[in-house]
Amino acid sequence: MQQSIDFQCPKCGETLSVPSPDLYSCSNCGQNVNVLPRAQVAQPKAKKKTVSSFLGSGCIIQGIGLLLLIAAFFFGLAFPLLFLPIMLVGIVLIIYGSRVAISLKCSACGNNVEKTSKICPTCKSHF
Ligand SMILES: [Zn+2]
Ligand SMILES: [Zn+2]
Repeated sequence: MQQSIDFQCPKCGETLSVPSPDLYSCSNCGQNVNVLPRAQVAQPKAKKKTVSSFLGSGCIIQGIGLLLLIAAFFFGLAFPLLFLPIMLVGIVLIIYGSRVAISLKCSACGNNVEKTSKICPTCKSHF
């Protein structure tokens, strides 16, 4: 295992190697750089991506909810008592649909991951 930490100077882009996490000044431009421990620097192999599917079931549910909202206004003109219940059902469907439509995916392998997981179950990437 290599002991030094590689990091990039945020000002000039020079890549520097230092033995330990500390405050350094860039040998190239003199910019002060706070070097974090390796674990915080070198780990971002993958990210969780929020993916909303526009063709999935969640979107269909949202579409129905939206139609109900529109319908509620028209029904409400003729039957004021129906306005509120139809509107509430529409809102619930839109909220429920947005939950179904959005899923988290691993940026490295594209498989679904849990919101709470720190390691991808498929490709073992760290988030
Ligand atoms: Zn620099
Ligand atoms: Zn993965």
